[in-house]
Amino acid sequence: MSSGATATIDLAAVTHNLALIRRRAGGGRIMAAIKANAYGHGAVRVAKALHTADSFALARVTEASELRAADIRQPLVLLEGVFDADEMQLAGALDCELVVHSDYQIDLLAAYGGAPRVVWLKINTGMNRLGFAPSRAAQLITRLRALASVAEVRIMSHLACADGDDSAAQVLTGRQLSAFRSVIGDFDGAVSIANSAALLTGDTDTVRARDGQDPAAHWVRPGIALYGISPFAARTGADLGLRAAMCLQARIIAEHLLQAGDSVGYGARFVAPRQMRIGIVAAGYGDGYPRAMPDGTPVDVAGQTAVLAGRVSMDMLSIDLTGCERVSPGSSVCLWGPQLPAERIAARVGTIAYELVTCVTARVPRVYRSA
Ligand SMILES: *Cc1c(COP(=O)(O)O)cnc(C)c1O
Repeated sequence: MSSGATATIDLAAVTHNLALIRRRAGGGRIMAAIKANAYGHGAVRVAKALHTADSFALARVTEASELRAADIRQPLVLLEGVFDADEMQLAGALDCELVVHSDYQIDLLAAYGGAPRVVWLKINTGMNRLGFAPSRAAQLITRLRALASVAEVRIMSHLACADGDDSAAQVLTGRQLSAFRSVIGDFDGAVSIANSAALLTGDTDTVRARDGQDPAAHWVRPGIALYGISPFAARTGADLGLRAAMCLQARIIAEHLLQAGDSVGYGARFVAPRQMRIGIVAAGYGDGYPRAMPDGTPVDVAGQTAVLAGRVSMDMLSIDLTGCERVSPGSSVCLWGPQLPAERIAARVGTIAYELVTCVTARVPRVYRSA
């Protein structure tokens, strides 16, 4: 391992998580979200580990280019579709399935002369981010089915509060689900609504159990759970039976003995209240460890807990080694991982673990383990 930050990615954890999701999906098909470089875990390696997933969900056509160049053959779904005619051509050449959420995208499809594509009609059931009003669904299905560039129409929507357990969240989820059910009521094609949170709560099971429908006509779209991270604020991935896939580590590269009143790092944010040992770790916001992380945030040093002391800089951070034994330059520090849930670290800085893992920067080597 280099001294600088390294992200160890446990691919066996990813396949364990997929198996758990597969059991929860009750015969539904799995569109694994590996957008944003598989939430920072490395899209190509994760796609290869998830070779039994039924398709992959992406946000950008450039992400599809990377996967096809690596010989990934599964269906690739562009969750926001394409934004102009050049992207339409590229998405066609890469054999992508397309979400359509706006009229201009239907015009792009109508003008497209390539081979017909699977099209996911996105319905806005209340998140108010992307999608057509439910009242337009029937007319749009007819229009899309009439286009030579459309091989098959499927319907999807997205939930705003599937991770929430307060009553306002439940009311909105209930409203979104009933809007979705009314759109798909007499639709005979495939549909999709569940993200990780909905899948794990079972909120969308009622959608799956449409009368007389083949369960395989329901697609689930897990993302964060594949990486072993919980979508719920009050629970970790381990609480849900998931295994964290990423461990962000770096080495201690220097040590100091501070006297009471000495400060450490930029802005002298941390001032030693007494004599104490400080370790300097070769990881910083240039690696994706947030600069805003407060003093007291835990790190794991060879199975012992140390805490952040002083402002995180670009390439380094400093930790209070009080109480840590057998630690010296060269010792490995885990910033988040299976023993130190990213969900807990994220909460310290007012964000979610999705952001921590996704923001691990390109200079951090990803080292893969599969057992
Ligand atoms: C990212 C994304 C998902 C996956 O969400 P998770 O919360 O990571 O499971 C599903 N559907 C859509 C439309 C998304 O953008």
